[in-house]
Formats: sequence, structure tokens, C-alpha cells
Amino acid sequence: MTTDADVIIAGAGPAGSLAAYELAGRGISVLILEKSSFPRYKVCGAGLTYKILREIPFDVSPVFETQIHTIVFSSGFRKSFKRTSPEPMLYCTNRDKLDDFLLQKAVNAGARVIHGAKVMELTQEKEFVTVVTRERTFHSKLVIGADGASSAVARSAGLRENILPGLAWEAEVRADPAVVKAFSQTIFLDWGSFPGGYGWVFPKGDHFSIGVGGPANLSKWMMPYYEKLLDYLAEGAWDCNVGPQEEKGSAGSKMQNAKCKIEVAETMSLKSWPIPVRVKRSMFHNGRVLVAGDAAGLTDPLTGEGIYYAVRSGILAARSCHAYLQAETTSLESYTKAVNDELMKELLEANRIKHLFNAVPLKIHYFVRDSDRAWKAFVKILRGERLYADVPAGFGKWKVMWGAACRVSKWISEYREWRKAGRS
Ligand SMILES: Cc1cc2nc3c(=O)[nH]c(=O)nc-3n(C[C@H](O)[C@H](O)[C@H](O)COP(=O)(O)OP(=O)(O)OC[C@H]3O[C@@H](n4cnc5c(N)ncnc54)[C@H](O)[C@@H]3O)c2cc1C
Repeated sequence: MTTDADVIIAGAGPAGSLAAYELAGRGISVLILEKSSFPRYKVCGAGLTYKILREIPFDVSPVFETQIHTIVFSSGFRKSFKRTSPEPMLYCTNRDKLDDFLLQKAVNAGARVIHGAKVMELTQEKEFVTVVTRERTFHSKLVIGADGASSAVARSAGLRENILPGLAWEAEVRADPAVVKAFSQTIFLDWGSFPGGYGWVFPKGDHFSIGVGGPANLSKWMMPYYEKLLDYLAEGAWDCNVGPQEEKGSAGSKMQNAKCKIEVAETMSLKSWPIPVRVKRSMFHNGRVLVAGDAAGLTDPLTGEGIYYAVRSGILAARSCHAYLQAETTSLESYTKAVNDELMKELLEANRIKHLFNAVPLKIHYFVRDSDRAWKAFVKILRGERLYADVPAGFGKWKVMWGAACRVSKWISEYREWRKAGRS
């Protein structure tokens, strides 16, 4: 059987493009099938945590629009405070720009791409895989499913188990350019409004991305929450001058006397999109097919961050495909093992922290506000200098209590989510 490429990759998001870049750079023939025409809009905060710089094997800074040093937190729109880091914690961009840049790198490395090719399904034979798009059928030795949250590849290959559906709504909004500039180094984060729910404001070069997200079974609460977030911003109720240890309205905060007032001048788009969250160690390959990024449900259950995990899993997928094609291994098992050992270990710990947060949201909120140690640990996780998996060790002699506290908070968190889902 003549194949169209050694590896076909479905989807040219960060997972697909990084996998293609790695494979093409190692001399493997790669064909990307992408349903859209690039550059294309994708609903996403496009916040890149600093740690992603350690993973992307080329300079991605040309697409950065803003660099974040400050986070203003509130808990259910109360008790706001700000925290600052001298070192950048994240960068914001737009996905049309980022994804086009990453795809171009893959093409320059030697990958081929067909736009407007939507993968519908695939079937595996002994020696190859048949990939069906609307227009025609393709064949390859291996397939990487990097086709996002509603992955046709993962569905066809039976790789969708243990995924909890999340959902997020986000708008790109214009505001007074002076206000956009004033907050170009600041993100706003509300958490604790409902179990697993959060709202954010990310500054871009010439506008803000404003969104809310949480478990999909609480979707009915998301639009009212989004509207409340806009009201809160328009009122200037978010006090971004309250530092750690200060209560809102205290002398220290009044002295600085400035508010975070953001009034929406124009909403350019408002859309929702799923955020799939893998909650157990699982299979990430089946025969000649692997899944990466959102197609594999690799998103942070605490923050919704997915680009970092898309990049990492795309690179891991490429390495396993390369080893298999070089006859260094006889199966793609090494990929499932690497994802479980390196990525799921982190994501499962993040899930435990999420439950703890849902059980005692205000306590964690105050902990981040009042404890320099907690804040520094938070920054280090964003910068990739610490892992979620290091958090239990940070409790020193109380570490033994960590597992028990996480188990109890999981029950409380799930009960709260269930009760909220049942409310009208
Ligand atoms: C509202 C919102 C805000 C977010 N904010 C952030 C954030 O600030 N930071 C962060 O790190 N993460 C964020 N995420 C998560 C992030 O968007 C995803 O985790 C990330 O895009 C996953 O990358 P990917 O390459 O796996 O998939 P995608 O980026 O979804 O790329 C998949 C690609 O596959 C293509 N495709 C889909 N189906 C097919 C098909 N059948 N055939 C061929 N091609 C197909 C799509 O057109 C797309 O180009 C957010 C998500 C949402 C919903």
C-alpha cells in the first residue's frame, strides 16, 4: 500500500503543529489535515504561562502582545486584592496569530498541510490507517489526532474515556485604548463564585478577552456570571490597589485611590467552547493512532490552561511516532506511558487542588493574599519552576494530612457542584 505520508496529523492547533514540527525536523514525512483556513479565529484566552517557553523549541516571542506581572484576584466579586511578580508570569496573544505562526514553523520544517480537510473518521488496518475526509480518503502508517475538543480521531479510535466536560464562554471586547494600555500587564481573576467556576480578563494588544468557565453541568450559571463580571468591571468595583495583608477600603488602599474600571465599548465576538478534562490515567493510543492536546482531554482542571499541555503532548506524540517508525519500538505504548507519567501526574494533582479550592474557596483566596510563600509557589508553578506535584511536599510535616484533606474536599466539592447543578 502506498501511503500519503508516514504520519497524518488531524488538526493544526498547537498540538498538531508542534508534533508536525518535531517529526518533519527528524526527516519523517508528515501531512496535516486541517478543517479551517488559516489564519482562523479560535475562542481562547491565549494566555501562555511562562513555562511554555521551556517547551517550545523555537522563539515564540514575536507573537506575544502583552506580558503579565500583576494578577488582581477576587472571590465571588468580593475581597479583591492584587499580587505582583517582578518576573513575567504569562504572555497574552491571539490564537489566529499564534496558531498561524506555529503552523508556519512546521511547514518550514518540511510538513505539508491541506486546509479545508475535515477528518470524519478513520479505520485501522494491519499495516496502515485509512483517514476519511469529506473530499477524499488518505492513508498513512500512523495518525496523530490533534483535532481539538470534539476530536473525530479520538471518537473513531475509542480514546474518549475518563473525560469530564468543561465549558467556557469568552468575548473579545474593545474598551477605551487608554484603559487597555493601563492594564496591559494585569489580568483579573474571579474565582469561588460557583464550584469549579472562574472568570477572567486578559489584556491583548488592542482589546481585552473576557470570559468565564467551569464544569459543563453548571453551564446555565455561566451567562449570568459573565454579565455580573461585566457589571463589576464597569462599576470599577475591583479594587486593584489592595495589596496583600490589606482589606479593601483600608487606609493603604484609599491612599492610592484608583479603580479597575473597564467599560465595554464593543463586543466583537462572544462564543462558547468545550474544555475537556481528563480525570484518570488512561490510554492515549490505540494501535497506530495517538491523541494529543484537547483531543486527549489534556487541560488543567484548575485553570483551564490547555496550550501548554497541547504543546507537550504534541512533542511526546512525535517522539513516540519517530521511535516506532525507526523500529526502535514495536508499539506506541511509550506515548501512553509518557503522558500518564509526565502530564497526567501533574493534572491529577491540579484536580486535587481544585477540589480543595472548591471546598474552602475563601481560605485559599486569603492564603494567596496573605502568605508570601503561597504566592511565590503560585508564581513558580506558572513559570515552570515548581510542579503541582511538589505542592504536598510544601506542607512539610503536615504532608500526611494532604491526602486525607484532598479526599474530604473531593466529596464536598462534588456535593457543592451537584447541589448548584440542581438549583434553578
Ligand atoms: C474560552 C476558552 C479560553 C481558553 N483560554 C486558554 C488560555 O488562556 N490559555 C491556555 O493555555 N488554554 C486556554 N484554553 C484551552 C485551549 O484553547 C486548548 O486547550 C488548546 O487550544 C488545545 O490545543 P489543541 O491543539 O489540542 O486543539 P485546538 O487548538 O482546538 O486545535 C485543533 C485544530 O483542529 C482543527 N480541527 C478540529 N476538528 C477537525 C477535524 N475533524 N479535521 C481536521 N481538523 C480539525 C481545528 O480547526 C483546530 O485548528 C481556553 C479554552 C477556551 C474554550
